[in-house]
Amino acid sequence: MTPPQPLAGVPAGALAGIGVGSASAAGPVARMAAAPALPAPRPVADPAAETAAVRAALAAVVDDLHRRADRAAGPAADVLAAQAMIAADPVLAERAAESVAAGSDGPHAVTAAFDSFRTALEAAGGYFAERAADLDDLRDRAVARLLGLPSPGLPDPGHPYVLVADDLAPADTALLDPDKVLALVTVRGGPTSHTAILAKALGLPAVVGCAGAANLADGRPVLVLGAEGLVLADPAPVDVARAADEQRQRRSRAAGVRGPGRTADGHPVALLANLGALHELPGAAAADAEGVGLFRTEFLYLDRTEAPGADEQTAAYRAVFTAFTGRRVVVRTLDAGADKPLPFATAADEENPALGVRGLRTSVRDPQLLETQLAAIAAAARGSGADVRVMAPMVSLPAEAAAFAARVRAHGLPSAGVMVEVPAAALRAERIAQACDFLSIGTNDLAQYAFAADRTLGALAGLLDPWQPVLLDLVAAAAEGGAAAGAPVGVCGEAAADPALALVLVGLGVGSLSAAPSCLPEVRAALAGHTLADCRALAALARGAADAATARALVREALG
Ligand code: PEP
Ligand code: MG
Repeated sequence: MTPPQPLAGVPAGALAGIGVGSASAAGPVARMAAAPALPAPRPVADPAAETAAVRAALAAVVDDLHRRADRAAGPAADVLAAQAMIAADPVLAERAAESVAAGSDGPHAVTAAFDSFRTALEAAGGYFAERAADLDDLRDRAVARLLGLPSPGLPDPGHPYVLVADDLAPADTALLDPDKVLALVTVRGGPTSHTAILAKALGLPAVVGCAGAANLADGRPVLVLGAEGLVLADPAPVDVARAADEQRQRRSRAAGVRGPGRTADGHPVALLANLGALHELPGAAAADAEGVGLFRTEFLYLDRTEAPGADEQTAAYRAVFTAFTGRRVVVRTLDAGADKPLPFATAADEENPALGVRGLRTSVRDPQLLETQLAAIAAAARGSGADVRVMAPMVSLPAEAAAFAARVRAHGLPSAGVMVEVPAAALRAERIAQACDFLSIGTNDLAQYAFAADRTLGALAGLLDPWQPVLLDLVAAAAEGGAAAGAPVGVCGEAAADPALALVLVGLGVGSLSAAPSCLPEVRAALAGHTLADCRALAALARGAADAATARALVREALG
């Protein structure tokens, strides 16, 4: 993660944002259009023509979905084909036609038809209720057609492109095809936002929080420089060639180092993969990693009206454990709330959801959620051959850690840890570590709570910069507390993905680093090039700095 770069030295015309990862890519822009706003109702002069327009819009949406399904593969193709079937339902067109006959204009008639479908699906419950959210996307596409606006959602220009969006939500990106998307650029978002995490998971270069990207038109060529946090519009061919060359060199240097993570003097630092969705599993399993250090299980619960059942969960966990037979898998139990709201687990009336009943706190209000999940993890772990460990998000107190560990062990699971994501846990890490088996520092939330800065806001990126010396103080406190209790301490937040910062974390006493698989080779190479004493000296330099920019600059200078 490369936080905002100083503007000095930025080439004229370059758009500055927050760089994600160190990769770069060039290509034409394709924008993700926002959902259309419904205009005020208008009188309908010719109901027959209006009905014909509605039918044509729905047919065009169906055609478009079929075309995309034909070009997609695997689960994405199935989802698109299922959506096409819903949009082609004659009852939908009939309902819209009835609304037009009753005086509605096309966009309102389509909206009413989809609303009535949605209500029916929700009432049916189960699988049908899960599909209700898909209807909103179909409605928006049909309304956009009627209004002559670009289709919302992921663009499909028919060639590889740089995706430019205001911001990306998990649902927007489920169908994102890394073979077509060369890079991500978002106007909003911070260094630990969903988009930044997703870009790393896909191994894509990205620049987030890039206000200037709002004006980039479709088709305009851009060069996205993740390391610099810059987007160059109409780049000179020489700049494109230089960026590609630097990338090749960096990758070939990193590819020269393989195997378990260790410093130049042989100090072991386990390198683990972050895993956030089942489609990432083949890449994570094939990665040169000692296992999974953070298995984010929320993907199973997203876009649902009720929690998935034990059998469905067991099947998903078993797929992961089987792929990692003989290796470690750290499963994080459901982290609902704040940036990951779930209708059945998150109270709708909290004024400050990031400070509310989220993470492990959810399971106090609804114990069955955690019970079902632990039972499913235990069932999947049995006989899988994977070294399954379980950890809880958003733990603040030793008593919470102890209660969680007891519940995990009651399911026959041997290893229970907790995430250190709030300063209270970092400062009392020794007592927390005494109550469980290991600690894993979530620097994304730890930064958010240390600085009282919403991690999704690009405007607060400076405070959320993982090089902030205060954040490093908290990491050091957690590492020291863990060591005093004899418990291993790792980092699984985005800070672990930055090769220079990874050295600092190891110098602070961290024993494992978990990051997107695409980031691990450069972290491994950095470790191999430095001794533990080097790492400690770098950590002292960074902690002694007055601010994040100075910490980063001092360490970069020392690394040469
Ligand atoms: C973190 O907070 O650093 C973390 C790893 O968890 P998430 O990003 O899923 O909140
Ligand atoms: Mg977190």
